[in-house]
Amino acid sequence: MIIVMRAEATQEQVDHVIAKVESLKLRPHVIVGTERTVVALVGDERNAADSGLDRLPGVAAVMPVLAPYKVASREAQSEPTVVTAGSLSVGGAKLGVIAGPCSVESLEQIVEAAKAVKAAGATALRGGAFKPRTSPYSFQGLKEEGLKFLAEAKAQTGLGIVTEVVSPEDVQLVERYADVLQIGARNMQNYRLLEAVGKTTTPVLLKRGPSATVEEFLLAAEYVLAGGNRNVMLCERGIRTFESHTRFTLPLATVPWLHARTHLPVIVDPSHGTGHANLVESMAAASVAAGADGLIVEVHPDPKNAASDGSQTLDFPMFTKMMDLCRRIATAVGRSL
Ligand code: PEP
Ligand code: MN
Repeated sequence: MIIVMRAEATQEQVDHVIAKVESLKLRPHVIVGTERTVVALVGDERNAADSGLDRLPGVAAVMPVLAPYKVASREAQSEPTVVTAGSLSVGGAKLGVIAGPCSVESLEQIVEAAKAVKAAGATALRGGAFKPRTSPYSFQGLKEEGLKFLAEAKAQTGLGIVTEVVSPEDVQLVERYADVLQIGARNMQNYRLLEAVGKTTTPVLLKRGPSATVEEFLLAAEYVLAGGNRNVMLCERGIRTFESHTRFTLPLATVPWLHARTHLPVIVDPSHGTGHANLVESMAAASVAAGADGLIVEVHPDPKNAASDGSQTLDFPMFTKMMDLCRRIATAVGRSL
């Protein structure tokens, strides 16, 4: 349930509501909007029955939230959340573009990629140092050494770093280097990991699990929000279907569907979503047309020799061309890039 405060409610009145909510053994999540403050209650809502919350000073209304994802829902917050992480901003009029290789392979590779994607207009650098690979025999990433290379690429370009964390024990380490903690598709329902990143203040990029429904996806985001971390970006990266002409099937209806139900920004990954470099530009443009708040795209100096995901990875000229098209589409839909 949510408690909607009156537009003229004072901070003391909000604090009083919070204290009352806590005394009912419920957790308050305060959402400060431009017009009014909303307090979302998380916990066993039966505790709030007949508690007189609606009669507290400054309270305009107490309303049930029908969606199971309470803090993520549009009912709790009507204005879009804008997530800012260093050079990256996602959720406002200007789209965020996160680009870089699937994996960090060497200092030279990541610095070269960072400079090239920045020149083409990317606003953050991606690169996996901890890689969750389908096969235990595939390249697992450079781990902390890779994080250090990312830090050097950031020092040279100013681009914020988006990199994956695969286990709760690594969160503190990855946080020291990352501007955004990426939770990979395989870990979308790793609830202990979601709780661990929920306790931090570092923005989170949560990828949709390939077999997860959008409702499960939003409930995974809710774990992070309920832990106290409000800086969550959702990423549609394709789902598993019977279709095999693409690596995954990229359902772009997810973008407007999510926008109708959550205030969290939505970005699209056309690289994993298609698995083929020659399909990435079109699907990136389609994502922007569908209202995506940002893109995450794999780009490498030499995709043919990439340590992972080379076949879906763009080279620098392809990325520049993709950006040019997406810029035009963004303008057509009233955004910029
Ligand atoms: C990645 O971004 O390289 C990655 C592993 O993505 P996903 O978790 O979506 O498969
Ligand atoms: Mn990849």
